[in-house]
Amino acid sequence: MLTISCLLWYCITLLNHNTDALPNIPSEEKDPEFWKIKAKVELKRVLGKKDINNLAKNVIMFLGDGMGISTITAARIYKGQLNGQPGEETILTFEEFPNQGLAKTYNVDRQTPDSAATATAYLCGVKANFWTLGVDPNVPEGDCIAQKGREVTSILDWSKAEGKSVGIVTTARITHASPAALYAHSAARDWEGDADMEGVDGDCKDIAYQLIYDNADIEAWSEDKDARNRPHSYVWNKQQFDNVNPRNTDYLLGLFEPSHMQYELERDKSGNGEPSIAEMTQKAIQILQKNEKGFFLFVEGGTIDHAHHQSLAKKALEEVVAMDAAVQMAMKMTNEMDTLIVVTADHSHVFSIAGYPYRGNNILGVVDPVPMEWGPVDDLPYTTLIYGNGPNYNYNNRTDLTGVDTTHKDFVFPSAVPIEYETHGAEDVPIYARGPMAHLFQRTHEQNYIPHVMAYASCVGEYATDCDRPIRSVASDFLSMARVVFASILFSRFLTF
Ligand SMILES: [Zn+2]
Repeated sequence: MLTISCLLWYCITLLNHNTDALPNIPSEEKDPEFWKIKAKVELKRVLGKKDINNLAKNVIMFLGDGMGISTITAARIYKGQLNGQPGEETILTFEEFPNQGLAKTYNVDRQTPDSAATATAYLCGVKANFWTLGVDPNVPEGDCIAQKGREVTSILDWSKAEGKSVGIVTTARITHASPAALYAHSAARDWEGDADMEGVDGDCKDIAYQLIYDNADIEAWSEDKDARNRPHSYVWNKQQFDNVNPRNTDYLLGLFEPSHMQYELERDKSGNGEPSIAEMTQKAIQILQKNEKGFFLFVEGGTIDHAHHQSLAKKALEEVVAMDAAVQMAMKMTNEMDTLIVVTADHSHVFSIAGYPYRGNNILGVVDPVPMEWGPVDDLPYTTLIYGNGPNYNYNNRTDLTGVDTTHKDFVFPSAVPIEYETHGAEDVPIYARGPMAHLFQRTHEQNYIPHVMAYASCVGEYATDCDRPIRSVASDFLSMARVVFASILFSRFLTF
């Protein structure tokens, strides 16, 4: 019986793989020489790769929050399909970086991590406990008293101490876990404002307070810059943002929403709306590049994670594509001989790409074809993208997707376990790097290794004295006219003040 059914399946599979009937396969791919040449070009490129051992004048870190490997694969297919291609053959900009490694993301006390403790790892160089940020692993979640004297500093602090300019760009709240680990210390990531700290024992400061020093309001930020006679701007819509002249602005604070920024698919692109992550990255680099000592810039695609938590796969993939455009912008504006760019994620999601759909099948659609042997027992269609847990779960029978537009931006993809808020995944995340010392990412690393490489490459923090490497001058250095400024840039939006 087994043999018969296997034979039957084989026949069906053969029929299904009559490639002449599939319009989505590029014709050149049927030529074996195409694949051999493609491989040889790749081989030549890898054999010719040279490590860059210069000092990294600048470091740019892109953090795709929740951008695990399955998200990257789906996003590249989505990007290709947006361009009218089958999609699988597409490549995201950062996937072309010459160096890659993997990061183990677990927290000191959890198998699957959250974004606060992972941020402590990839920004401060020390692993921490779940839900804590900017403090060492002796601090249990929510223990304000225990955090005294257990603060750890970040690569932003280390870079500033060496006279570099620093900036933060994020599509999440500026007090949210990932950016907060750059400047704050908190035993609980949700102590974002003073209202969140009622009933907490001890005298810990909320995250917003720590961001704006001792005065938790925007006027205080401006007054501080006025007092120090620094050219600065505060902007809260795209028109104002566009009007900022980077040449005469050293400090820029942009807060475009009371909470997270809008999803790229819903973003108001008018003057009253918001800039894209690529536009924010561009403006940040233009301002920060004025410092002849270089800069550190953190750019977070924070809403990839938020979309996944709601099982809104289309929005998550669009956010990846938007961040990819920001990476492309950074690559265009910098030189790999003096700028280290690292692209990574804090953690993955329980997000899978399932079934055996045809090449070029809509990544947001249902699996087509469904081979008889591997079809679902209830004979109902199922989507290629499925979450291990999350909000779209029917307790009795699976939702019949016949006639449902699964490609709509608000379609909530199905899950196996009913949880209101889809969870993170525990598997490793990739690290992509180009520029000075990028080759130090080359195997499976602990996540807290990442800022050590960035600090070593740029000679800051504990590596500031271990620095006899030359800066390789590039044309952009001369164009920037060598005026030392200490620009701080903060884009995003707050919860409450
Ligand atoms: Zn999350």
